[in-house]
Amino acid sequence: VRTIGIIGGGQLGRMLAMAAARLNFRTVILEPQADSPAAQVANAQIVAAYDDEGALAELARAADVVTYEFENVPVAAAMTLTVARPVYPPPRALEVSQDRLVEKRFLRDCGIATADFAAVDSQADLEQALDRFAGVGILKTRRLGYDGKGQRLFRSPAEDRAGAFAALGGVPMILESLVPFDREISIIAARDRDGTIACYDPAENVHRNGILHTSTLPAHVNETTVDAARKAARAILENLAYVGVIGVEFFVLPDGGLVVNEIAPRVHNSGHWTEAACVVSQFEQHIRAVAGLPLGDPRRHSDCVMQNLIGKDIDDVPAWLIRADVLVHLYGKTEARPGRKMGHVTRLLS
Ligand code: ATP
Ligand code: MG
Ligand code: MG
Repeated sequence: VRTIGIIGGGQLGRMLAMAAARLNFRTVILEPQADSPAAQVANAQIVAAYDDEGALAELARAADVVTYEFENVPVAAAMTLTVARPVYPPPRALEVSQDRLVEKRFLRDCGIATADFAAVDSQADLEQALDRFAGVGILKTRRLGYDGKGQRLFRSPAEDRAGAFAALGGVPMILESLVPFDREISIIAARDRDGTIACYDPAENVHRNGILHTSTLPAHVNETTVDAARKAARAILENLAYVGVIGVEFFVLPDGGLVVNEIAPRVHNSGHWTEAACVVSQFEQHIRAVAGLPLGDPRRHSDCVMQNLIGKDIDDVPAWLIRADVLVHLYGKTEARPGRKMGHVTRLLS
């Protein structure tokens, strides 16, 4: 492998391209937005829609292997590419993670606990599902939601349900039972082409306004919970015959039990800490896996806290830069719109 094609030009693609360059790989980005964060550091960018047939053919010619930085790559595009080049992670991972209903069924088939759920295709379905969940649950669009977008929480049976289906766009949805979790953790894991698996330690994640705010290592969970999280990640990777890095989000119940919230078939925001606290980051790990190199050691040499810089948080960068214990990473975005991920900082604790 000399050249790695990456579908998607956001910050995750950017960090993958940076890790690839360090191992002597060239990168080509497929992304419709010109001068994307990833293209600023990659060797080349094909500026076209993700499903543009000419662009996909060009990507297959330019790259020896193709990967992606986001889970909404059209499955048909990924399938088209597999005819010409290996595509990692396998397109099946896209199918599973693009639709919350398919994802939950897949997880259950792997023997992994999820929130209780019901498919909601109409207002009548919603009323019926809410009755089943005693009026409490989270309604989510099945596709395309991120950072808590496309969701509506029903806290009590007294809440007004009228028009709720239409208000979220009248698209296929899922109602999930509200999981009474103590905390949220995630596992970043990798599987190489030979089937070897490496898991990083679980991070404890705190969200603000639906967006990841901090990931802290170690997570405040016991060894049994850590083992269960690793076991679930392993089952998912093996079931998908996966190659690359995956992020698995969990709810931790008061008794230490785990419920999987969702999976992301890519490097994950809650794994950014690995670049500061591990010898091999999740980005290099992904590049190693898809390029057919041996995986790196996922052990953590330091405790740490990763914090996202959202919108105006970018103004704090001068203060972060003068700290000896902080690694600053910025994404090359010029406009600091509210809710936009501009960069992150990782503070080492030990
Ligand atoms: P991401 O940016 O992580 O992809 P998303 O838009 O896919 O976010 P989810 O991860 O499904 O959204 O939910 C966002 C947050 O809402 C969760 O991290 C959790 O805090 C809360 N949440 C979601 N589903 C449930 C649930 N069934 N029970 C309790 N809390 C939930
Ligand atoms: Mg999500
Ligand atoms: Mg999530």
